[in-house]
Amino acid sequence: MIFALAGNQNSGKTTLFNALTGSNQHVGNFPGVTVEQKTGEIRGVKDAQVVDLPGIYSIRPYTQEEIVSRDFIIDGKPDGIINIVDATNIERNLYLTLQLLELKIPMVVALNMMDEVRDNGGSINVHEMSQQLGVPVVPISASKNEGVSELVNQAMHVVKKRVIPAVQDFCPDGPVHRCIHAVALLIEDHARAIGVSARFCATKLIEGDPSLSARLELDQNELELIEHSVLEMEHETGFDRNEALADMRYTFIEGVVDASVVKSQESKEHKRSVNIDKILTGKYTAMPVFFGVMFLVFWLTFNVIGSTLSDLLSVGIDALTALVDQGLTAFGINHVVQSLVIDGVFAGVGSVLSFLPIVVTLFFFLSILEDTGYMARVAFVMDRMLRKIGLSGRSFVPMLIGFGCSVPAIMATRTLASDRDRKMTILLTPFMSCTAKIPIYAVFCAAFFAKYQALVMIGLYASGIIIGILVALLLKGTAFRGQPVPFVMELPNYRIPSLKNVFLLLWEKAKDFLERAFTIILLASVAIWFLQTFDFRLNVVTDSANSLLAMIGRGLAPVFRPLGFADWRVATSLITGLIAKEAVVSTLSVLLGTGVAQLHLALPSLFTMLSAVSFLLFTLLYTPCIAAVATIRKELKSGWATLGVVIMQCVIAWVVAYAAYLIGGLFV
Ligand code: GDP
Ligand code: MG
Repeated sequence: MIFALAGNQNSGKTTLFNALTGSNQHVGNFPGVTVEQKTGEIRGVKDAQVVDLPGIYSIRPYTQEEIVSRDFIIDGKPDGIINIVDATNIERNLYLTLQLLELKIPMVVALNMMDEVRDNGGSINVHEMSQQLGVPVVPISASKNEGVSELVNQAMHVVKKRVIPAVQDFCPDGPVHRCIHAVALLIEDHARAIGVSARFCATKLIEGDPSLSARLELDQNELELIEHSVLEMEHETGFDRNEALADMRYTFIEGVVDASVVKSQESKEHKRSVNIDKILTGKYTAMPVFFGVMFLVFWLTFNVIGSTLSDLLSVGIDALTALVDQGLTAFGINHVVQSLVIDGVFAGVGSVLSFLPIVVTLFFFLSILEDTGYMARVAFVMDRMLRKIGLSGRSFVPMLIGFGCSVPAIMATRTLASDRDRKMTILLTPFMSCTAKIPIYAVFCAAFFAKYQALVMIGLYASGIIIGILVALLLKGTAFRGQPVPFVMELPNYRIPSLKNVFLLLWEKAKDFLERAFTIILLASVAIWFLQTFDFRLNVVTDSANSLLAMIGRGLAPVFRPLGFADWRVATSLITGLIAKEAVVSTLSVLLGTGVAQLHLALPSLFTMLSAVSFLLFTLLYTPCIAAVATIRKELKSGWATLGVVIMQCVIAWVVAYAAYLIGGLFV
């Protein structure tokens, strides 16, 4: 048995999904978080699955979210639909409900956020609403887990008894009624052939859905007949086709709401949000507040909390390394094996691991900002600026995710409506510095800019953004002419962040990070250790400058001479950085033969302060890791375009680093 969980953005779908299945999907106070559908087993019920669809307002074929949802509902043939409706925003939410009703699939309406409605003195006559809509309506509060088991019972009931929604006609007579019926009659056989309700197909055809008319295999004659009916309807009503249907739906919804809903007062939350927004999104205050908040987050992460914890952890790791080292020596183990464990595994994995606290602290703050609803405001404020560089506020979401990891960020561009916006965002997202680069920045800061860590960090993040902007301007004037799609997003009320949510997100990030450290970084560290321990005759070398790795690194090093760091070890670290960015640090740590806590002391032997800057800029801008490149390839659907992107990134990185080194050289 498969249930589709359908509803508007931010209506609480994921919260309900988690309550139903006991899983821990990421809940966001932030539209655009769920792009792909997720499936889970309903707890306590045999063979019942539920699919969390992306949030949509209407079943149209425009954005990726709408397409994913529509295709699942039409092709996935769910046995039942659980339509989640935000009870604090009923009119808009029912708009989707009416379209789902037309599908003639067993359905229940889950009236969510009833706690908020109650708290603000509103009430809903559930029985009346259920009568009017012709489907069971169950009041719930997904986040408080109220009414969820009743919802499951009702859903099982309608599916087992195959109860089809009783109401599909939303206007009793008039031109719109006639038109829908005429079209439904005309295409009835075609609709039956693909197993979708004729009435649903009819309204979609009237609204204009070319992929559906192709799927229905309508011939020219039928298409003309449909067009004729629609034109007649437009003529009689004086509305265009979309307006006519929207008018029909909203009139019906008004009837439902009048009969069953006692409006709550303007909610406390909403009033409070409006007041907070006067400052946080105010014309003059929005940007200063944003930069202030970001500065605070970075300062706390890199100068106060995260770095202290990281220092502690690296001291711990060093102590453990020394202990294991002594143990192995006492045991008299083979030297090569000892070197593998200590110089390979411990130096490599340990150096990356010690940055876990920084990553977790940064995400702690970012997830709080997200969960309160502030990030949605930032997207809104940024829309004005993003428009100037040819993007819309919607692109902000993927870019923001890009500060975490480029892979999900590039996937998140699927929420963008136009191909142009999407491709442009994919190109720009890698300029947003991902968390895997934090270890590199942190260790270089400790080595060269100990007093100004937060400032250098912000400088690096800002450089990424500025270069991104310049590239965007260039693209806007050349390859991507045209206008970004208008940006419509509803601002959710500010909420106190839920601790559970924040910790789930932290755990997810920490898990990702640990997984990477113990898989890809471990492998890379061992590979690097191998290449630097043996020469090409597979003899153990005494000086790693004679190793296999040195040969490879030396081949590449001249490319970096103009940037101020021509040492083969640095070149090698940049190569391993292609596997994963953390590997830059683990490689340097393995090659310099230092422990975690001492790495920053050894760096000045390879870099001057100036070449450290050019190195940081280079790592900031050059090609992201293999996983990100593979994702770009998948989303752009072109190997050549991807190669072009990679070359562009390397060239930009080189040029910027070179320019910084040259210009800096004039002052130092
Ligand atoms: P989705 O976008 O539809 O997946 O919605 P989410 O599940 O991500 O939830 C959006 C926001 O609504 C989150 O901040 C949730 O904590 C909040 N939320 C979800 N269900 C309820 C509820 O029953 N009551 C209240 N007050 N908040 C809820
Ligand atoms: Mg969601």
